[in-house]
Formats: sequence, C-alpha cells, structure tokens
Amino acid sequence: MAQAVAQAMGDHARLVVEAGTGVGKTFAYLVPALLSGQRVLICTATKALQDQLHGRDLPQLLRALALPQRTALLKGRASYLCRQRLQLARQALATAHAAQLADIQLWAQGTQTGDLAELPGLDERSPVLALVTSTHDNCLGQGCPHFADCHVYQARRQALAADVLVINHHLFFADLAVRESGVARLLPDTGVVVFDEAHQLAETASQFLGQQLGTGQLHDLAQDLLAVGLRHAPALADWPAHGERLRQAARQWRLLAPEQAAAAPPGRLPWAGVAPAGWDATSWAGATAGAVLALRSCLAALDAVAHLAPDLAHLHQRTVDLLAHLARFSAPPDAGCVRWLDMAGQLRLREVPLDVGPALRALWQGLPAEPGAWDEPARPPAAPARGWVFTSATLGDDERLRWFTAACGIDEARVLRVDSPFDYAHQAALYVPRQLPEATDPAHSEQLAHWVADAALRLGGRTLVLTTSLRALQELAGVLGRRLAPGCGVELLVQGQAPKRRIMERFRAPPHATGYVLLGSASFWEGFDVPGSALQLLVIDRLPFPSPGDPLVQAHGARLKQQGRSAFRDYALPAAAVALKQGAGRLIRSEDDRGVLVVADQRLLRMGYGKRLLRALPAMRRLESEAEFAAALAALTRTSTTGSPWP
Ligand code: SF4
Repeated sequence: MAQAVAQAMGDHARLVVEAGTGVGKTFAYLVPALLSGQRVLICTATKALQDQLHGRDLPQLLRALALPQRTALLKGRASYLCRQRLQLARQALATAHAAQLADIQLWAQGTQTGDLAELPGLDERSPVLALVTSTHDNCLGQGCPHFADCHVYQARRQALAADVLVINHHLFFADLAVRESGVARLLPDTGVVVFDEAHQLAETASQFLGQQLGTGQLHDLAQDLLAVGLRHAPALADWPAHGERLRQAARQWRLLAPEQAAAAPPGRLPWAGVAPAGWDATSWAGATAGAVLALRSCLAALDAVAHLAPDLAHLHQRTVDLLAHLARFSAPPDAGCVRWLDMAGQLRLREVPLDVGPALRALWQGLPAEPGAWDEPARPPAAPARGWVFTSATLGDDERLRWFTAACGIDEARVLRVDSPFDYAHQAALYVPRQLPEATDPAHSEQLAHWVADAALRLGGRTLVLTTSLRALQELAGVLGRRLAPGCGVELLVQGQAPKRRIMERFRAPPHATGYVLLGSASFWEGFDVPGSALQLLVIDRLPFPSPGDPLVQAHGARLKQQGRSAFRDYALPAAAVALKQGAGRLIRSEDDRGVLVVADQRLLRMGYGKRLLRALPAMRRLESEAEFAAALAALTRTSTTGSPWP
C-alpha cells in the first residue's frame, strides 16, 4: 500500500485503497506522504481519528523519520469555543444553564486551543454547546471584540502555515461550499490529499451540495435576536415579541406535522408535489406563510438598526438568507435532486442531489465544477494536478470497488485491495441461529434479546449488539434490561443513555467481575475499536439493507429503474454488503483477538443474494448448531480466564 501511495503521489494520480483491518493503513499513507516533501492535506471522517492522527501518529512518525514538517489540526467551528457567544450566553441565559456556563468560563481561561473536546465531562449532546460555539451565520469575524484571541481564527492561521494539515470531510466540503476557513485557499498548493474513512465521502459531499432549512434555525435566530437586540438596541424594537413570533412559527410547523410521520422509519417524509407526504397542503402553506411573516417583521425591525453594530448587521443577513431558503423550498425541487422532511429532533427540510459524482469528478480533476453544482461564487478552484488517495477498510464488494468509485466520480482511479493480515479462519467464527424467527417477524427482536441474554450471561458480557433500526434497539433494550438484572454480573449499556465517548470507554475497560452488553445502532457500526477480550461476541440483528421507506433510497431506486437497472441488485445489495462488512469488522481488531460473529437473519443462508453478502465477510469458521455455538462460547470463556488456546 505504501508503495502504491508513493507512486500515485509521484504521478499525481488518483488511487483508491481498500485496506482490511490490521493492515496499518494510516502509516502506509503517512510515511510516503511525509517523505514526498509536498504539502499534505489529510481528511478523516471523524474528529476522533483527527485527534489520533495529530496527537499520536504524526508526532511518532516525524520523530522516527527525523523530519521537520509543521503539522496542524483544524476542525469545524462547532468544535471551538466562541468567546463572544459565551459572553452573550452568560448575560442572556444566566439562569437556564448557569452551572455549565460557569464551568466552561473557568476552562476558557486556561485552554490554549479552545477545542471543546478537551473539556472534561462535557456531554456531546448538551444544548449548551450551541450557545458557546459560532456558526458561519453568527460569527462577527474581524468586527468581533475577541477576534485577536479567537480560537477559531487562531486554528485557521496555524492551518494555513502548516506543511501537514489534518481536517475532516465535513470541513473540507463546508469550506468548498462557503470558502470560509481557507482550506479551499490551501488546496491549490497542496501536492497531496488523502481521504481516510473515505467510505463516507459521497454522503458528506451530498449534504454540502444540497440545501436545508430547519426549525432549529428559527429558534436560534429568535434567541440571538433577543440577546443582541437587547444589548445594542434595547429601546428600538420589541425584541422579545419578535423572538416569540419566530418561535411560534416553528411550533406551528411542529404541531401541524402529521402524527404518523414521527414514527415513520427512518424519520423522513418524502416530498409529494407541494408539501411533505401525508401533510395537508393547505396547512403546510399556512405554516410556511406564518414563518415568512414572522421573518419579514424581524427584517423590518433589523432594517432600522443594522447599521448600529456588526452583530445586528449579521442578524439582518441571516434573516434575509432564511427568507431566501423558504422561497426556495416553496418552489418545486430542482431536477436531479430529492427533497424530504427530516423528522428526527427538529423539523428540517432537506434537498440533496442524487448523484454527486459529476461535481466530485470535476473536483478531483482540478476543473471548475459545472455551473450550479456549488453555490456561486464558491466553486472549487481550478487547480494543478495533485495526488489523491482515498482509503478505508470498506469501499465495496467487487474488484473495482464500484460502490465507492462510481458514487464519487473516480471510476478511472487506480484501485488496490489489501487483505487483512488477520487469520480469520482461526480467530473468528460465524453463526446464523436457525431457531430464531424470521428477521421480518414482529417477534424477532424480543426472541433475539432473550437469546443474547443467555449467551452474554454464559460469556460474562463481552457482547456488542448492532441493530439496523432504533426501533429494534428499543425493543432489545427493554427485554435485555429486564433479563440482565443487577447482581447478575453483566451490565447493559445502551446507545443514547450516556455520552457515546463514556459508553465506549466503559465497554473497552470493564471493571473486575463485571461484563457488558453494549447495544448500539448506526454510529456503533463503524469507527468503534475494541481490541482485546472486552469484545468476543458480536451480534448483528438483521441484514443491513437500506430502509425502503427512506425517500433517498426510493429516489435512487426510481432513478435506477429509469435507467433499466435493478434497484435491489445495483443499490440495496452493495450497500448492505458494505454495511455488513463494516459492522462485522468490529469483532477482530488485533492478531490476538478471538470471537464469534452472529448474524441473526436467516436470509443470509436461505436467499440467493446471501452468497454475495457472505463473500463480503472475511472467511471465518462456520458454526452450524446451537451446540457448536455453545462450545465456542465455552472455549472463549476458557481462553479469557486461563489463557488456553481457542480451538
Ligand atoms: S470571531 Fe467569531 S468565532 Fe471568534 S469569538 Fe468572535 S464571534 Fe466567536
């Protein structure tokens, strides 16, 4: 892999590498990138990998190779404390979050970077985070009294001066979309770009090539209007009344949402003509008109005071932008785009292009993108040739890795697949229990939960259950919560019941005489690394096909049908193969790991397409019966307690 990466960098070529678990792909791209002597941009999907690269891997390699390159880490705005917003929050909301704001204020006095990930005990789901971080909309930039010591701009200055810069996919595309942090400026003279965790690239790109408008934006505007209006122009408008009107408009949307929508998997309502499906067109038009009226009355008030302070001028621009978004969503969706209403948490209108391949192809080739692909004037710059490397443990299930390369517009790239060095035939076993109900049976989750409880009690925990839906997660959590009673030696950890970071830390390092069953959905299927014996039983509840109720899935299916292709064979099946491989990859993370993968869905063995899915998995020993499974669990228990070899 390192040789192929060096070659691609030298030739300014595009290289896609699928590198199985344990290959050492990070060093395999970092070493040639550092030795290339070129300026390097490394993009990861997660902040956790960003931190690991910048805090551990890069310093280690630079020391070992005795190289002098300067490195920098740059995250999105939402990761850094905004001193201005902290000050506003402390003034305006002293009672609501006073204790947490005081903690942040204390930490703010000592932090060098302002990176909120450093703040001990901070819950990543805390509503306070939105109060103390900035957005492109509300940042005052050079007009800010804290500009000189602003953490966001300090990180950006360091990024622009670095030889090796570590960013994330979101920042990469956000920056191209708004040309904000200087990454787009940096790109033209970067000789090498590496995307790690590249399997997420097309989805992230589509978010930034699309549009969205949410009730959260109305609430945020209401809150900032109150804080900023009362501060700079207290007697010049009735700011509390304007804020309340915006909140009322947001509430109206929420109240009028059809009831069944909240439960419709996966929380997305397709667009049908002039309104979301199931939504009465007249009440939708009424709710939209209410939001327009509320925004217009804010705009009238801001028109009169925008010149008084940069904060007020920013609020004015935000209001104008929100009105433009509303106008856009009042017209039919653009051709080639799919629109839907997201019902998870706030209501959010989304519209994304179905095919981001052409826009991305132009980017990789250094050409200006087609007009309309990116918002003007933020088209990616025409750039000189450079080496692009895309890598991940899972990029497809065929030799050309078409699932990834076609979606990302790099069909012509060099492709390399490097198998995992682990001995799966000896380290792991695969079991598909035949006595459980069909995966489509309503009793499936409940019976699976009892089966998992029995297995986990025998194994002493060390079990990760990955579900394909939140509904299944809740059903399993209900039964497992009752079965794993206090004192049984096995504790249940459930996604969402504590910050993800804390759940992962507990699962990785169980205290003496306690084992864990961890129940997780989407975010635990990838990037969750548990080497050692803390994880020995991995259960996947169902084959991870994309949800047929998802408007995005429906739109992809309809497009393929129009092209005379099969929505199942060409979209759902490869997506399931990639997801299954991704989830199964949690089990064996080092050459000493041993474990059993259970796929509780008999379609894997019964259906013709099961063979393709099985081929996507590493070649493991197969367990054919409950007796063989029980023997494997017993052997795992012996291995953990006595160090005896796993048969
Ligand atoms: S410049 Fe922007 S991000 Fe920095 S402190 Fe001011 S408002 Fe916050």
